[in-house]
Amino acid sequence: MKNTIKNIIEKIDLSNNFIITTHVNPDGDAIGSELALARYLQSLGKNVTIINHSPTPDYLFFMLNSKDNVLEFKEELHSDLIKNADVIFTLDMSQLSRTKSLENFIRKSTATKICIDHHPSPEDYAELSLVETTSSSTGELVYYLIKQAEVEITLDIALPLYVAIMTDTGSFKYERTTANLHRIIAELLDAGVVPISVHQEIYDQGSANRIQLLGRAFNSLVIAGDGKLAYMKISLNDLKETNSKEEDVEGFVSYTLSIKGVEVGLFFFELENGFKISLRSSTTVPVNKLAGEFNGGGHFFAAGARLEDKSMKDTIPKIIETANQYIKQYSK
Ligand code: 5GP
Ligand code: MN
Repeated sequence: MKNTIKNIIEKIDLSNNFIITTHVNPDGDAIGSELALARYLQSLGKNVTIINHSPTPDYLFFMLNSKDNVLEFKEELHSDLIKNADVIFTLDMSQLSRTKSLENFIRKSTATKICIDHHPSPEDYAELSLVETTSSSTGELVYYLIKQAEVEITLDIALPLYVAIMTDTGSFKYERTTANLHRIIAELLDAGVVPISVHQEIYDQGSANRIQLLGRAFNSLVIAGDGKLAYMKISLNDLKETNSKEEDVEGFVSYTLSIKGVEVGLFFFELENGFKISLRSSTTVPVNKLAGEFNGGGHFFAAGARLEDKSMKDTIPKIIETANQYIKQYSK
């Protein structure tokens, strides 16, 4: 890792114009890592633009300030920026297709692509890859980069790093929460991060509509696979009737694993042109492999897939059947 970071730092030194991007529907790790990296680069006097396919979700807005240049990709406005960049950083995603509308522009760009990620089996598109699957989050890797560059971790960098790590570790409880990670967190607190305020910003500012939506998800709960599989769903109609947004379903899937005996939890979310699945495992079933059956991917314990132009209603039975097979094969 030290050598890769050394090469990245050398490339940064020689470059001026940077683009940073991440996956569709960015989460706390995606936006937090982007902001920390951007602010570090800006502190070196570089030109930095963050361009994403999706807008920043409301619950992450508190991290932004007026100097952050965060744009939603529009071909007519931003394709030249991507074409003429010296370096494009792609964060928190293993496949370039997860940048959606940016994908082809990034592929065509002559910029040096640098991938920073913690997902298994990444696509090989980047000239430099800082990919560590043992890392809790992409934010943790951005931390190592900034540390090795010997740049001071000021509060404006510490805050998004904290958000990245906190959200991707389920508030410091998942398996990659190590003693070393807590030492990093201690340093971020020393820089001025206040845990309770960050937690309140992220988890306690939801709308009443979101709770209504959660109620609908709970109502849809089905237990299958001899009690080892639980799934819930939200339709476009649920979203409309509760006046909610796609980002409001963040975290819903985790409730499936709070049921005793459940080893695999699925959450189906209808989109305008198909649907999305969130998959979670609490034991020995590799849900990234299961997601792979439907062109998705992710981590062993948390994965996802987007099925475009497929009907949720017609496809769910097939997915449940496959999930049950996986449970039979891999369950403890
Ligand atoms: P979530 O269920 O929270 O949306 O996603 C959980 C994890 O699954 C993410 O951290 C990401 O690694 C992965 N993931 C989610 N959606 C997709 C997808 O459409 N394709 C791939 N390859 N991975 C996904
Ligand atoms: Mn992540």
